[in-house]
Amino acid sequence: MQTKDYIVEIERLKKEKNAVILAHYYQIGEIQDVGDFVGDSLALAQEAAKTDCDVIVFAGVHFMAETAKILNPHKKVLLPDLNAGCSLADSCPPMDFKAFVDKHPDHKVVSYINCTADIKALSDVIVTSSNAKQIIDSFPADQKIIFAPDKNLGAYLNKVTNRNMVLWDGSCMVHESFSLEKLQNLMVQYPKAKLIAHPESEEQILNVASFVGSTSALLKFVTEDEALQYIVATENGIFHQMKKDAPHKELIEAPMQDNSSCACSECFHMKLNTLEKLYHCLKNEAPEIQMSSDLLDKSLPPIREMLRLS
Ligand code: 13P
Ligand code: SF4
Repeated sequence: MQTKDYIVEIERLKKEKNAVILAHYYQIGEIQDVGDFVGDSLALAQEAAKTDCDVIVFAGVHFMAETAKILNPHKKVLLPDLNAGCSLADSCPPMDFKAFVDKHPDHKVVSYINCTADIKALSDVIVTSSNAKQIIDSFPADQKIIFAPDKNLGAYLNKVTNRNMVLWDGSCMVHESFSLEKLQNLMVQYPKAKLIAHPESEEQILNVASFVGSTSALLKFVTEDEALQYIVATENGIFHQMKKDAPHKELIEAPMQDNSSCACSECFHMKLNTLEKLYHCLKNEAPEIQMSSDLLDKSLPPIREMLRLS
């Protein structure tokens, strides 16, 4: 089948099965275009919380589909490729994290949504890069907090909230691979370009950025800001919506370190999803996210708390 046939079939199956496709900005352009909602982690979780469709197809990675399942335990939640994981979520094994939490008994546990349901179940509240500052600010100034799993986002949040949260030592393999040296050379080459960065990037990159924000905040910034050139330090799937919303702007990928697994800023987990897999997933209603009722029950309250505070 050709791309256009997959698109026609996906549209037909969506209606037939009363399904909704939630797509993250890091998906390939064709998948974003067949999505009913395209957004960042927070917007997609909010959409999952209010959908009245029978089937949710999550065009994203495992922790995102898992969050949709936790919010909709009685619905069918599908992920086109169950191997679409997340290096950041993988950097926080539940047993080790439980021991870490037990060592800090008087701390609240704030976890970034990029974590497994087991980590969510050990948390007081979940945050995304869109609402983390606002949620952390809602705690009393003297409240001790553990932040997991991303040490880079955690360090950034410590700075902007003026706190000293205890950080779990995790990171994202894409966002920690930008090269400061190459970036500075690029900034000399494009003196009018503004560097914009996702807060999962390392501190040295964030320090030289003109703007730091979630994927949707970066998109909004490029659309509304007056500059004409941007160096973008996040996964390159975001370029699809940026080019649609601001076609007259020049977008340049932030360069990666020489030893990085990929020369481009691509999350291979996100890119495991293809139009073909999306079609088969809708047709066969598989692969499906399956979770025990115990884990569903334990991981829901911190997600509900996030939605209440957002
Ligand atoms: P956003 O919530 O900003 O979309 O980020 C998701 C993500 O996985 C970043 O790597
Ligand atoms: Fe996870 Fe990084 Fe991929 Fe985002 S870009 S899904 S944090 S591995």
